[in-house]
Amino acid sequence: MLKKLALAALFAAIPAASQAWFDLGHKVVCEIAQKQFTQKTKEALKDILKGGDFPSSCVWPDLRKGRGDPLAHTAVWHFLNLEDGENYFVKDHINKQGDVVQALLLCASKLADPNLPLNEKKIYLSFLGHLTGDIHQPLHAGHGSDLGGNKIAVTWFGARQQTADIKESHGQNPALCTQHGEVFDSGLGECLYTRKSTMNMNLHGVWDGFLFDRFISITPELEKIPSNDPLLYKAYATYLLAHVDQPQNWQYKTFWDWAQESIALSRAAYDLSKDLRHGGAVYSLGKDYYQRNIGAAHKQLVVAGLRLGQTLNRIFDKAFDDSASATSFDTEQDKLKSRLLELVPVLEL
Ligand SMILES: [Zn+2]
Repeated sequence: MLKKLALAALFAAIPAASQAWFDLGHKVVCEIAQKQFTQKTKEALKDILKGGDFPSSCVWPDLRKGRGDPLAHTAVWHFLNLEDGENYFVKDHINKQGDVVQALLLCASKLADPNLPLNEKKIYLSFLGHLTGDIHQPLHAGHGSDLGGNKIAVTWFGARQQTADIKESHGQNPALCTQHGEVFDSGLGECLYTRKSTMNMNLHGVWDGFLFDRFISITPELEKIPSNDPLLYKAYATYLLAHVDQPQNWQYKTFWDWAQESIALSRAAYDLSKDLRHGGAVYSLGKDYYQRNIGAAHKQLVVAGLRLGQTLNRIFDKAFDDSASATSFDTEQDKLKSRLLELVPVLEL
């Protein structure tokens, strides 16, 4: 248990690489979800976000991991660790501080509570949007022993280092924003800025964003849009919905089903047998790895977005779907909740 906790803490402490899907992936997922919303769901989100936009709010939980942040304990909510052959539903394996499955259950039930104040709902909404993205990133359901691929050094198309846009916060004081010449995001109630960060490449980072960066760089519809232009995530979402075949069997799955799919996919993500190693220490990933995995990475973005849309419609629109599969889904999700309650304390923010 102690070892698990130490690994979890380390995992959270690695800055860029632990931002699942980076900002772009999260925004694409939430943009796809937003396109599925019914009128009722749209109205509910408008009340909660008070003018803020949903895809931006989906990035916010990654900013809460820093030391000293009152929500720093939520860093373990972004993933779950499972070694090959381990059973999740075992007291010794499951993280009692929380994990992505437990956190999604918490967020969904809090959002469904009609008595919860809107400012608290805003927090749970942004976590639900964000963590739905994270749980579909296969290496967020990877091995704890290598920190979800963070410890697997790689080169990416020949480069050992890459630069990524990382969001940071100046805090919740609009005056600080002015001082730093930044724009206060009233929807998030926070002053955000983007900083360029150069990092040594690792397998986790490839899945967080560099697979998508590569795709953008070779796709005429996307390559000319600057990386910080909101048009980019909107255009990417539209592109995926038009070009990725809607995956079969994505509907009405429990949060644990989502995790299981990622665990299965992470085995392919970890398959580096065909990729050369430089001097025995660093895997050289490029065209082959990209071509083997970009399809799965895109499918995960689309499925995450569709599922997030369905989950929020189920929560905010009573008339959304009362079919037999929707009803049996509620029963399955309740079963999952009771199963977890036998193993872990009730998760609280
Ligand atoms: Zn995350």
